[in-house]
Amino acid sequence: MTKHVYTFGGDRNEGNATMRNLLGGKGCNLAEMAGLQIPVPPGFTVTTEVCTLYIAGGQKLPEDVKAQVLESLKWLEGNRGRKLGDVENPLLLSVRSGARVSMPGMMDTVLNLGLNDKTVEGLAKASNNPRFAYDSYRRFIMMYSDVVLGVHKDLFEHEIEKLKEKTGKKLDTEISAEEWKGLTVVFKGIVQKELGKPFPQDPIEQLFGGICAVFDSWETDRAKIYRRLNRIPDDWGTAVNVQTMVFGNMGDDCGTGVAFTRDPGTGEPYFYGEYLINAQGEDVVAGVRTPQPITKFQAEGTGHQSLEEAMPAAFKELLATCNRLERHFKDMQDLEFTIERGQLFMLQTRIGKRTALASIRIAIDLVEEGMIDSNTALTRIDPDSLNQLLAPVFDPKEKAAFKKNGKLMAKGLNAGPGAAAGRIALSAEQAEELAKTGPVVLVRIETSPEDLAGMVAANGILTARGGMTSHAAVVARGMGKPCVCGASALNIDVKAGTVNVGDITLKAGTDFISIDGSTGEIFAGQLSAFPSEVNQVLVEKKLDASKSELFQRFNKIMTWSNGVRKLKVRTNADTPHDSDVARAFGAEGIGLCRTEHMFFEGERIIAVREFILAKDLDARKEALKKLLPIQRQDFEGIFTAMNGLPVTVRLLDPPLHEFVPHDEAGQAEMAKVIGVSLAEVKHRVEKLHEFNPMMGHRGCRLGITYPELIRMQMRAISEAAINVAKKGIVALPEVMVPLIGTVKELAFTKTEMLDELAAVNKENGSTFSCPIGTMIEIPRAAITADKVAGEAEFFSFGTNDLTQMGFGYSRDDSGSFLPEYVSKKILEDDPFQSLDQEGIGELVRIACEKGRATRPGIKLGVCGEHGGDPRSVKFFHRVGLNYVSCSPYRVPIAILAAAQAVLEEKK
Ligand code: PEP
Ligand code: MG
Repeated sequence: MTKHVYTFGGDRNEGNATMRNLLGGKGCNLAEMAGLQIPVPPGFTVTTEVCTLYIAGGQKLPEDVKAQVLESLKWLEGNRGRKLGDVENPLLLSVRSGARVSMPGMMDTVLNLGLNDKTVEGLAKASNNPRFAYDSYRRFIMMYSDVVLGVHKDLFEHEIEKLKEKTGKKLDTEISAEEWKGLTVVFKGIVQKELGKPFPQDPIEQLFGGICAVFDSWETDRAKIYRRLNRIPDDWGTAVNVQTMVFGNMGDDCGTGVAFTRDPGTGEPYFYGEYLINAQGEDVVAGVRTPQPITKFQAEGTGHQSLEEAMPAAFKELLATCNRLERHFKDMQDLEFTIERGQLFMLQTRIGKRTALASIRIAIDLVEEGMIDSNTALTRIDPDSLNQLLAPVFDPKEKAAFKKNGKLMAKGLNAGPGAAAGRIALSAEQAEELAKTGPVVLVRIETSPEDLAGMVAANGILTARGGMTSHAAVVARGMGKPCVCGASALNIDVKAGTVNVGDITLKAGTDFISIDGSTGEIFAGQLSAFPSEVNQVLVEKKLDASKSELFQRFNKIMTWSNGVRKLKVRTNADTPHDSDVARAFGAEGIGLCRTEHMFFEGERIIAVREFILAKDLDARKEALKKLLPIQRQDFEGIFTAMNGLPVTVRLLDPPLHEFVPHDEAGQAEMAKVIGVSLAEVKHRVEKLHEFNPMMGHRGCRLGITYPELIRMQMRAISEAAINVAKKGIVALPEVMVPLIGTVKELAFTKTEMLDELAAVNKENGSTFSCPIGTMIEIPRAAITADKVAGEAEFFSFGTNDLTQMGFGYSRDDSGSFLPEYVSKKILEDDPFQSLDQEGIGELVRIACEKGRATRPGIKLGVCGEHGGDPRSVKFFHRVGLNYVSCSPYRVPIAILAAAQAVLEEKK
């Protein structure tokens, strides 16, 4: 018989932290805590495997699962000395989801299960607190109806608002027992009206209904979107945790809250959290009431009373428990707790989500505190999240001016660091719409999981209600988006489409708002962003490294990574400026210098056009004479910037029609320059038209039809290297030929190149030489790489074209169908972003193997966009490339990913 249900706590603790896949994160950690003798209300976990069985079986709970649930319930009742449905002293339960990885707010929870018209009386008597009993019952009807029966909670909220209006009461806590009791009758009436049947009174029916609802919630759209965004497989399923209720809403010696062992926003080593007195868990998380800080330190200057002051004994125990759990799990913990009549219970512990900033700080601090080693620290940081350290902040001067001019609208909580400015969207749909034409800030009273698509589309998120652990805050931090929460001064009028504070009123859809997620400030209008500290130190060199802690931490991660990684990291750069930036970020050379990008600047495009539109070889050679000094100068600049590091230069690649003017004014100008009629220029431009330019006259094909062009490029490169060498600069160019399909294309081109090089050396009395290699970006070249390696001294994989040609998807047109391919799961990812390891990656692997067979030790690199994608970088490490090359701002990401690739191998 398969075991489907595992108990935890009390005298039968069947799980532990190693059973995450089966029991889910919440379930396994509840058992682990119970094993550590930490006070956890006992209960049982229905496994994730049951979720899969339930869905496969047409949303039905198998009979043996039901039997095991009932058996575990019996144990629980024995342990608690109370029975579910007992009219004297009823056992009440919570039913909560818990997947392998946490999916905040994605799935449903039911609290206070077991209440009905009779047991509520028993609870009132047993607790000697009718107000608490009826508050719990009305919560249960609301939650159960919403989650299990599908009656929207707004219908119930509306009745609470009506009652408050009638009685002039503002807070839930002011509502009396009798009033809650009256509402439970109204609530049951709503259910009867909506469903045509009464609210279920049988606690066992309630229990199975709750369990099924949690499993059903795995299949909701919002859970599916979340899984797609976070790459969580559908078949992982969720577990269901059924747990004895403890009550934070029994009175003023009760409360509930969440805590982090360190600040999840900044990573500072301060115990941190929020709580509410006389409340239940969902009040904190849903952002219905803005919670209070738990420590005195946090509460300072806020006018709130901290938990530390309100319940010192419980606080002390909480702090000790949290610290113990952090040391046990060796990472920052995110915990939920309830205090029932002064007694502390832990309801959850998990590895806390954090910002990029915090993840770096925490990883380094834990190393310094001796809890983990530096390699473990490296595995704790998501390489992509380094992006956030390089992200812009608002220009402080402009911000000061905005403040002076009264444009600081309000201040909320700094829930997700970073700066965002955009037009205001008041709904998720509006955010998605506006995002098509520019940056958007999503402004909501509070967010819920239904807003997810809008949050994805928005550049920043702003809410009027809710704390640091509200849905908006948690989700925004996970996405790395700037977020300001709980800005209660904002008046958001969704109907009128306005956001107002005092005499500032902004209109959604048109007006801009700027939010600073690091300070919580909200400004009317559009502020411009300013480079991050890392950027100021490395690129602008305006900030002293010793003055920036942020930079020092960034630097430590880079240093640790450099000590581990085997892959070299180069950059794709076409100008001396880009080369400088990349070098500052740690690039060890240029892996791709696209020479055509040099063609567009200033006057040089005229000379390029002259070449393309020339009528014969002599005219072409004349035009190339003008281009030669310009290219030579560019190379001198780049070689100087990369002094001593290799620079891979690619010969001209794109089709020529990309350079010629297609408008009449431009064509007339060219007619003047080359001294022919406008009609003639038009005719020559038309002749360049291709039906399928990506597969037309481009790449090495240009050099085969116009050898004088690549000769000019080879001359510019070698003369530049010879020139800078005279100034003591070490130029290390490596020249590569793009887009070859057969070795003969390379052989032909190489002969021309070497011939020109010999001429240059003869003229200069020099002996300059450089490796000549090729890009591998056409499948035929990949699978004949053994032959290609006979001519090529190195390979650089052009995975952009290799993906295009391997899949047959146009790089420029795939946007119209690839997103649907991904959403329909035909593809896991957009293969232009993350390498398709199974197919295109196999071409890479074959080419590496065949290339090495012919030329052992052949240098292998990649210069397609995938060189900056962490998962692809790890793949390139595994197939044994020597280097990856990516855009300058992704160099740090590739460096960390390359180190992780080594550490993952060791596991
Ligand atoms: C490639 O195809 O991967 C590549 C780097 O070249 P480009 O993007 O310039 O075609
Ligand atoms: Mg290419």
